[in-house]
Amino acid sequence: MKILLIEDEPELRDSILKYLKEENYRVETAEDFQMAFQKAGSYDYDCVLVDVSLPGGSGLEIIKSLKENKSTAGIIVISAKNSLPDKIAGLELGADDYLSKPFHLAELNARIRALIRRKNFSGESKISVNEIMVLPDERRVFVNTQEVMLTAKEFDLLLYFIANKNRVVSKNAIAEHLSGEFADHLDNHDFIYSHIKNLRKKLMEQRCKDYISTVYGIGYHFKI
Ligand code: CA
Repeated sequence: MKILLIEDEPELRDSILKYLKEENYRVETAEDFQMAFQKAGSYDYDCVLVDVSLPGGSGLEIIKSLKENKSTAGIIVISAKNSLPDKIAGLELGADDYLSKPFHLAELNARIRALIRRKNFSGESKISVNEIMVLPDERRVFVNTQEVMLTAKEFDLLLYFIANKNRVVSKNAIAEHLSGEFADHLDNHDFIYSHIKNLRKKLMEQRCKDYISTVYGIGYHFKI
């Protein structure tokens, strides 16, 4: 899961960043309006955390632009204490949720998880696809009720495939999802191939059907 954190207060930004990384999210940060606008317009995120008052502009403009560009990212507004107008404006522009400063990091995490579930899996805390069962909050996967131990990347890959099931996903989209903003600078996607190979092997060891097929020259297809 890839998150864009837009926050200009260095201490708050660093503490959120550190916490979310420990929770296995891939996080990119932006510390002012310009940087936030550029990143939000150039890359796909699962979730964008937007502080409203930023040097150089308003976080509300970022929300507006995400919505105009038909972004599917979940948006959480981080507003200053007691700033009801910011909250309302953010929600009216299409943000999904908001948090007022100060907040507990665990609460932020719970909001992000709930949001991603709502977006990708209609709010399910347990995702079942035939013989595969995923507990996204616990990052655990079962095949035919046997637990399969996946690496963080393999887990993200599986969840990405499930969220995009019956759709062809390009190698570029997978690379960007797994590694963040530098994917477009990689001219070699061998690392995706090896993660997919390992994921398939682990699933099939538990007698899971092979749902992942290669679409030559394009990417992969998780077909149910
Ligand atoms: Ca601020």
